[in-house]
Amino acid sequence: MKIVDAFFEWQKATSDKKLAKMKEQGLCPDCRGKGYHATAANAYIYMPSFDYKCYSCDGTGSYSNWENPI
Ligand SMILES: [Zn+2]
Repeated sequence: MKIVDAFFEWQKATSDKKLAKMKEQGLCPDCRGKGYHATAANAYIYMPSFDYKCYSCDGTGSYSNWENPI
């Protein structure tokens, strides 16, 4: 599955770049500082009961909370 490997390589490179930028701005890399996943409904099958809150930063959108969860 070469195409899958290539995709994950691309994803890793992109996330590394994103991570540095988010750290610079002090924002949670998972939700880009929003505190919730706004694109989750588009990316996955829509689930009405799904909680879109970002648990990586506990909904604060802060990089320090993402790095050191409470
Ligand atoms: Zn977050």
